[in-house]
Amino acid sequence: MLKQRTLKSLTHAVGVGLHSGQRVEITLRPAAPDTGIVFRRVDLPQVVEIAVSAEAVTDTRLASTLSKGNAKVLTVEHLMSACAGLGVDNLYVDITAEEIPILDGSAASFVFLLQSAGVELQNAPRRFIRLLKPVEVREGSGPTEKWARLEPFHGYKLSFEIDFNHPAVDSTGQRVEFDLSTGSYSRDIARARTFGFTKDVEMMRANGLALGGGLDNAIVMDDYKVLNADGLRYDDEFVKHKILDAMGDLYLVGKPLLASYSAFRSGHAMNNKLLRELLAHQDCWDVVTFEDVKQAPAGFAQPARAW
Ligand SMILES: [Zn+2]
Repeated sequence: MLKQRTLKSLTHAVGVGLHSGQRVEITLRPAAPDTGIVFRRVDLPQVVEIAVSAEAVTDTRLASTLSKGNAKVLTVEHLMSACAGLGVDNLYVDITAEEIPILDGSAASFVFLLQSAGVELQNAPRRFIRLLKPVEVREGSGPTEKWARLEPFHGYKLSFEIDFNHPAVDSTGQRVEFDLSTGSYSRDIARARTFGFTKDVEMMRANGLALGGGLDNAIVMDDYKVLNADGLRYDDEFVKHKILDAMGDLYLVGKPLLASYSAFRSGHAMNNKLLRELLAHQDCWDVVTFEDVKQAPAGFAQPARAW
C-alpha cells in the first residue's frame, strides 16, 4: 500500500512575514492519518484551526491566504509547496502571528525543516485526486491572456510559461517543465525565490505590504537588472518559482493530484479558480489509492530522506 506520511518529530523556526513584517514562530508537528494539513493560530485567545481546502482560500492578491471567521493565515504557498514536493499528507502548523515566515523567500528552508524532522509512513492509504477529463480556466485575450489547465496523467507534472518583459527575465528561460517522477523537487524547484520590482515594492510599502521583504528573501530587480549581489540561484529562477507557487497553491485542494498542470501567466488567483472549477465538475476526477505500490507512478513510493 502507498501510505500517508507525516513528520517523525516536531520542528520549529522563527522568522518574519513577507507582507506584515511581523515576527512569527512556526512549529511543524506530526498529525494522525487523514488529518490533512491544519494551520493553527496559537496566538489567539482561543486557538483557531484552519484545515486546508480550496474554499478556505479567501484572498489571492499577493499570496494565498486562508481564513476562518476573522482568523487568517497569510502566505501559505511556499510551505504547502514543500509539503507537496516531499509528499507530506498530515501536519499541524502552529503559528504565533497571521503570516507564515518568508525565511529565504523560497521553499528550501521548509524542505530543510521537514527533512530535519524526518518523514514517517502511516498506516493509511495515500488518497490522490486523479484527473479523468481536462479542466481549464482562462481570462483575458492578447496581452492580458492567462490560463491554467489540469489534464489526466499517471503522475504529477507541471509546465509553466511566464511572459515578463524585463531585460533580466528575457535573458533567462520563460518556460519550464517539472515532473515529480523524474526530477528532484528539493534540487530543481525548492530553491527558487520569490521576486519583485523595486518600483512595486515602494508602492506596496506605501500600502503597508511587503514590510518584511528585502534582498535576503527575494530577488529584487530595478528596470534593468537583478540587484542581489549573488545573482540568481538557477538561470530560470523566475519561472521555477512560479512552478513552486503552483505546487503550493494546488496542494490546498487537500490531496495530491495525479495530473498534468500547465499554465500561462497564472498566479495564486487563477490557481485557486482552477481548483474550484475542478471540484465543481465531479465527472472530471475520482479519488484513488494504490494497494500495490508498483502501480503508483515512478518515484511516488519513496518518502523524503530524514537526516
Ligand atoms: Zn511565491
